[in-house]
Amino acid sequence: MVLAILVLLISAFTIPVKAATTFSDVSSSYRAAKEIYYLAEGNIITGSNGSFHPNSDITRAEAVSIIGRAVGLNGTQRETRFVDVPSTSFASGYIQSAFEKGFANGYSGGYFKPGQHVTRGEMALFISKAFGYHATTTDAAINELLSRHISEGMANGDFGGKELIKRADFAVFVARAINDELRPNYKPVYLQEGTVTASSLLVRKGPSTIYGSIGSFTQNTKLNVSHTVGNWIQVTNTAKTVTGFVSKQYVTLTDVDVPEVPTTPPPTKNPLAGQTIVIDPGHGGTDPGALGSGLREKDVVLDTGLKVRNILKRMGISYYMTRETDVFIVLQDRPVLAQSHGGDTFVSIHANKFNGAANGTETYYYGAAATATNPYITKSKLLAQSIQKRLLTEWQLNDRKVKTANYYVLKYNSMPSSLAELGFIDNPTDAKKLGSSVWRERAAEAIVLGILDYYKASGYNVSSLYDKVRP
Ligand SMILES: [Zn+2]
Repeated sequence: MVLAILVLLISAFTIPVKAATTFSDVSSSYRAAKEIYYLAEGNIITGSNGSFHPNSDITRAEAVSIIGRAVGLNGTQRETRFVDVPSTSFASGYIQSAFEKGFANGYSGGYFKPGQHVTRGEMALFISKAFGYHATTTDAAINELLSRHISEGMANGDFGGKELIKRADFAVFVARAINDELRPNYKPVYLQEGTVTASSLLVRKGPSTIYGSIGSFTQNTKLNVSHTVGNWIQVTNTAKTVTGFVSKQYVTLTDVDVPEVPTTPPPTKNPLAGQTIVIDPGHGGTDPGALGSGLREKDVVLDTGLKVRNILKRMGISYYMTRETDVFIVLQDRPVLAQSHGGDTFVSIHANKFNGAANGTETYYYGAAATATNPYITKSKLLAQSIQKRLLTEWQLNDRKVKTANYYVLKYNSMPSSLAELGFIDNPTDAKKLGSSVWRERAAEAIVLGILDYYKASGYNVSSLYDKVRP
């Protein structure tokens, strides 16, 4: 009886976080064993059927999933923006998250090529972007890895950027990027100091709660912070007795003055400085707009408009939205609001409805010169053409062309104005896209690209802005 209680007590204090993983093809003396098992401990790599296949090449889908788990991205399988990554793909969640975080882009035509094998250079770029090193070229990314001792280069001194990377080497690089204690001959540089705000803060071996704890810090403990991994930071106390990972949310961070801060180039002037884009999501409040396929036009166009706003905001372009919430605004007020908020270009967003069979995208402008209440007919037409063209490219729906109409927000406006009908809410093909957040994001990108095309054709040097439309 006494013995049984003792056993219970012991087991209560020794509940393992996770049973140790062993791969039949990675012995403890294998050259990358330490790094592979470090990642396995945090479920960042899982292998398959007890094997890791260390000498196999790694696919883009596998690589993005591993890095995604390392930095704590949302890996829930879901719809993606890529034509070759269905929601049922094991990597769909990580691929979509990685795209949204800007560290994995696709190829033209909307392809991600999930099964394509990854080169050492691509791996460097993935890691550099995912861990926030900000390199945008392969060469710069390789230098970031070398300077942090994540890579020591290949034996011949060449990184071998064009060679395919083996799964074992990929694991080594990711493990070293996460945990600087795994980097050979590396002395951490502490760019931030932290103070623990929680009454007791567990220190873990890796950047997630899956990793076991190796100690704890009490409130107000001073920390040196070496780097960030997702929502976690690798830290050491000032006595350097405990080094590990803590959740960033329980630490107040301050930057340390480091003498050799690289000089940042002066900010370049935004080529659209002085221009305000007006986004006008149609309907709202008591006016739902068109109804169909379980969707309401007012919701679809508001969300698309908010996505346009978010892109413009990120790009540093000034904007005004006639409505940012589900409220009713009379038509007559919309051009007035646009003008009173300094608008220069007006884009109204709507969805169509007819007989269920009609389908496609069309964009309007006001074109009746004889009753020119809006004097900007030529510019409005250019704006409508630019947006229509981009919407067709991004959405791939039926081309119902650029058209003229006497819509109030076009006719009585005082600036170049267009109105996009994204698709038909009562048509199954169109409604699938109207009802999808991923597709609405692409519509928003198309609208912003169309606006840029319009300004470019109007003589603005906006070429530097195109790369900023997508994160
Ligand atoms: Zn409408």
